[in-house]
Amino acid sequence: MLRVENLTVAYGSRVALREVSFDLPDGRLMAIIGPNGAGKSTLIRALSGVLAPRSGRILVDGQDLASIPSMERARRIAVVPQARQLPPAFTAWEVVLMGRTPHLNWFGQTSARDEELARQAMERTNTLHLAERRVGELSGGEQQRLLLARALTQSAPLLLLDEPTTHLDLQHQLALLGQVRGLVHENGTARRTALTVLHDLNLVARYADLVALLVDGRLAACGTPAEVLTPERLSEAYQVPLRVLTPAPGGTPIIVPSSFGQD
Ligand code: ADP
Ligand code: MG
Repeated sequence: MLRVENLTVAYGSRVALREVSFDLPDGRLMAIIGPNGAGKSTLIRALSGVLAPRSGRILVDGQDLASIPSMERARRIAVVPQARQLPPAFTAWEVVLMGRTPHLNWFGQTSARDEELARQAMERTNTLHLAERRVGELSGGEQQRLLLARALTQSAPLLLLDEPTTHLDLQHQLALLGQVRGLVHENGTARRTALTVLHDLNLVARYADLVALLVDGRLAACGTPAEVLTPERLSEAYQVPLRVLTPAPGGTPIIVPSSFGQD
């Protein structure tokens, strides 16, 4: 389980997250939503351990993240970052295999099992056909899927994703979130938990178990999609009048601007 306690994070004098607290139980997919600049990427960076809190703590299975050595952290937390940052001269296969780095021995040799895990992750993310291609010549969407494949290869129980659907077409957006949700809801021994920044509120309504709404560095709401995705909350957070339509009882709600279909 992931526990965030009174987390405050700053860049110099600019406070980007203030007193954020929430729990994320194992085996759940949490979406982080909120307007630009709300602190979503900052939260992902803090949870990945690359940005130290100014105050408060992050507990991973009860252990303070700040006290976990970086290699051990990489075995427990995998990150799909927002910006494209893959080394262009490497092949897709090499990049995905890099996900095994925290598990390798002193000599950095990969085993047949490492390769099998990389192959499985590429199969899952529909990237196996790209294995021999150089990363620099792949499209944004293909690179995005490779980033997910690399993160899956890392076999970490906690998966952090920052806007993973940005470069993807609709088919691949649905596929990626379906894959992440499938991993999280799998009942295997290696139980996974995921936290993902998403902009598309309709995808949030469809895929997330829990939603954290950040506004101006504060946690404005945290709960189930039904609790958080209310027209009042969203309209206030995004400063746009929004409506939440529920086409069928118990069905996935659809979030649209208030004027939609009326003008
Ligand atoms: P989001 O991902 O929700 O759009 P960010 O977490 O990237 O927001 O940013 C939150 C706030 O922190 C913004 O005001 C942003 O300008 C600021 N910020 C982000 N990264 C840095 C940085 N490296 N240095 C200084 N300020 C930053
Ligand atoms: Mg961001």
